[in-house]
Amino acid sequence: MRVLSGIQPTGPFHWGNYFGAIRQYIELQEVADEAYYFIANLHALTTVRDQALLRQYTLGGAIDLLALGLNPDKAVLFVQSDVPEVSELSWLLMTGTPMGLLERCVSYKDKLAKGLKADAGLFTYPVLQAADILAYDADVVPVGEDQLQHIEVCRDIAGSFNHHFGQTFTMPKGKVLDQSARVPGTDGEKMSKSYGNTLAVFDDVKAQRKQVMRIQTDSRPMEDPKDPAGDVLMDLYKLVASEEEVADMTALYARGGFGYGDVKKALADAAERYWAPYRDARAHWAAKPDAVREVLAAGAVKARAKAAGVLRRAQEAAGVGGW
Ligand code: ATP
Ligand code: MG
Repeated sequence: MRVLSGIQPTGPFHWGNYFGAIRQYIELQEVADEAYYFIANLHALTTVRDQALLRQYTLGGAIDLLALGLNPDKAVLFVQSDVPEVSELSWLLMTGTPMGLLERCVSYKDKLAKGLKADAGLFTYPVLQAADILAYDADVVPVGEDQLQHIEVCRDIAGSFNHHFGQTFTMPKGKVLDQSARVPGTDGEKMSKSYGNTLAVFDDVKAQRKQVMRIQTDSRPMEDPKDPAGDVLMDLYKLVASEEEVADMTALYARGGFGYGDVKKALADAAERYWAPYRDARAHWAAKPDAVREVLAAGAVKARAKAAGVLRRAQEAAGVGGW
């Protein structure tokens, strides 16, 4: 099994990134034959247009991944732009991608609906993503639910290339975790860096508490029992609290007679305990930025070697080069 996934340096990583995607990266690096994980800085350019910030988020993202358990001895960690072969592959794929396929992409439509400006990069985002996946012959792609459609697009693109030019690409499959495929944000929508509704993984304790207190709840009277199903606070609590704490909280919801402020306090406490060891690991890596750069440089060498071979295969199939 060859695993690949990417994450954008569009802001500090949040609970959705961790519980939906990064946690899977860490689990899969143990069982995969090869695992490739990258910081998608070229994708991030569609939203972050500030060079200092993009650099900071890119190195910061690598530090975060290492702190959360990504092991460079088991997985290849690199930055997307360090593998230019992928951008070239993206063009080969773009020439065979129907407009309609991209027009149907929900994440593009959602961002437009939220008033974010759309450029050609945002529109063709799934093609670069397809190139990212196909360039490493990945067969498993761990992601959150919002990315499943893009993986279907990738399969369509690969299928049509294979059909046209002969078997060239490996067909990938998306992999989501049932319990945390779509972590809600502080407004109940999908938690997303670009929606300003996140709980950051590595906020300091005080800032995290403040964010938790911001979570929107309904205004049912305190004495009423509440339904824990589909409740944002409960959904988030389940991610960071122990089984016993979740059982106690479920009983409290059934009984009623409490305020959401109490649940938020319990959630903030559980979150503080949950993230404490990772926070320590982050401090360790953050103190050694040169070691992180070395990890990324070594990762880029390995990733490039793999992607160059696949690009050559695709170029030959399409009749580009080789005369
Ligand atoms: P942006 O708003 O810039 O798109 P994002 O927060 O959606 O940022 P991405 O870098 O697009 O983060 O996604 C990285 C990974 O995290 C993807 O696998 C994505 O599916 C996953 N992910 C993002 N948000 C959530 C969420 N709320 N729940 C579960 N998984 C998520
Ligand atoms: Mg996203």
